[in-house]
Amino acid sequence: MRHEDDQFLEEQLRVITIEVALRAGLLKKCPLHEELFDAQKYDAEAAYKLANYLITNNDPLVEPFNKDRRRLTDIIKNLCYEFSACCPLCEKNSLA
Ligand SMILES: [Zn+2]
Repeated sequence: MRHEDDQFLEEQLRVITIEVALRAGLLKKCPLHEELFDAQKYDAEAAYKLANYLITNNDPLVEPFNKDRRRLTDIIKNLCYEFSACCPLCEKNSLA
């Protein structure tokens, strides 16, 4: 597999994982700024459950993971560290 293809797949898997996290309520989208943030810091339990459920049920959303649960839960774990606890733009406004 060429490097660019690999990167494309990584990005695709990330987008899917964000969708799973949004559905599970792990990530929220700010209604004002459309920014993603992590409202339940480090509480990834619901997202892990949903991820396993989707893979077990062969949901088309997670098809690119090719039944690799570990890969999906690893990306969920990374998301927990990646987003701030509230919308960064709202936070900036409240400090101003
Ligand atoms: Zn906001």
